[in-house]
Amino acid sequence: MSEEILITDGHLVTVDDALGDLPRGDIRVRDGIIVEIGTDLRPGAATEIVNARGRLIIPGLIDTHRHVWQGAIAGFTPQMTGYGYGPAVLTGIALKHTPADIYAGTLWGALQALDAGITTIGDWAHALQSAEHADADLRGLQQSGIRGFFFYGGPGPASDDPNPPHPVDARRMRDEYFPGNSANGRLRMGMALRGPCFTTAERNVKDFAFARELGLPISIHVGMAGTADAVTTLQQDGLLGPDINYTHCNQLTENELDLIAGSGGTVTITPSTDMLMQFGTYPATGRALDRGIVSGFGVDTICSAGTDLFSEMRLALAAERSRANNEALARNEQVHEVALHQRDMLRLATLGGAQVLGLADETGTLTPGKQADITIVDMRSPHLDGFGDPVAMLGLGAGPADVETVLVAGEFVKRDGALVGAHVAKARELMHETQERLRTADR
Ligand SMILES: [Zn+2]
Repeated sequence: MSEEILITDGHLVTVDDALGDLPRGDIRVRDGIIVEIGTDLRPGAATEIVNARGRLIIPGLIDTHRHVWQGAIAGFTPQMTGYGYGPAVLTGIALKHTPADIYAGTLWGALQALDAGITTIGDWAHALQSAEHADADLRGLQQSGIRGFFFYGGPGPASDDPNPPHPVDARRMRDEYFPGNSANGRLRMGMALRGPCFTTAERNVKDFAFARELGLPISIHVGMAGTADAVTTLQQDGLLGPDINYTHCNQLTENELDLIAGSGGTVTITPSTDMLMQFGTYPATGRALDRGIVSGFGVDTICSAGTDLFSEMRLALAAERSRANNEALARNEQVHEVALHQRDMLRLATLGGAQVLGLADETGTLTPGKQADITIVDMRSPHLDGFGDPVAMLGLGAGPADVETVLVAGEFVKRDGALVGAHVAKARELMHETQERLRTADR
């Protein structure tokens, strides 16, 4: 494999304010790092050249919150709201997952993301019934080649205790794979805590203390249907802080969003699951951005929603405009200006996501010195070969099948429209085996 790659002649959308767009731009990648961005860059003798004429080159997309283990059960619960989802999935099919199934689901789930141009993921792993399940989840992420966070969830739903403590196994995972909270290859560790919505106040205080003792960032679900006052509770218990990522948030009060902004927390916006699963109403997009809260997107529940961030960008913008219109119509007025653009959505799906995960120094923009996490979208198809801003075209019509080539740390993980590597065919086989097992398993 060539150590230097030159991607030439594409429309570069760097999402770096200092660099902007280069309508006919080149990127030089060396040893997995972006080393140069410009026009008419010269290849060396051994440089591998990727012709990107007619393509849009964007930073690798970032999904900050996804239950990656659900990779083998796509489309399992498309008609369910949050109320049906718990018994069907969390205390239903999740319990049928052996460690081998968790491995197969997570590996396939991570490949689904890479196929859609997502190079960094926040894996909210909450089907970990045992230490073996936890190891299997992490192994699936590692095998896929994706960058991101393993957020240790729990407790395992198989427990007899309706409200058990967070697994102490998180300490073993940290010490074994992430000693001193270091990175393990492209992966890091965080804690997927239940938060005040899903456990008692006492247990929540202990969960937070445990995560902070381990020095791991925290992610929780808040502000969705039926889960009121979570952020207020955290404030009352003195637990707010910049180490907390809040997912959903659409039902939070203005004061609670102010509390997140004031304490430096981050928000993950989840348009598909918010609306398809009736987790509240309008996604938190505009209300979070108005406050300057660091925000990114999450696909979240892939057994009920899709697997790509183009859909999230599209839905978020449509919902935000609908929300603004709804408020204006209630005043018998009309909205004359549209504040947010498809480019704002792309920023949330790239740099915003990197900031949410604390990885903006290494990914999220096409900037020399950062990791070569790059997504190349073929814009020559009838539905994308447009007249207006190509980023608008991307936001209006792109999907995973338009993602032609994906690099993570300069390594090709998708090329010419197909995932790369011998592990891909094996992963598909394992995923189908898991599906067969789940169809027939009692438990
Ligand atoms: Zn979630």
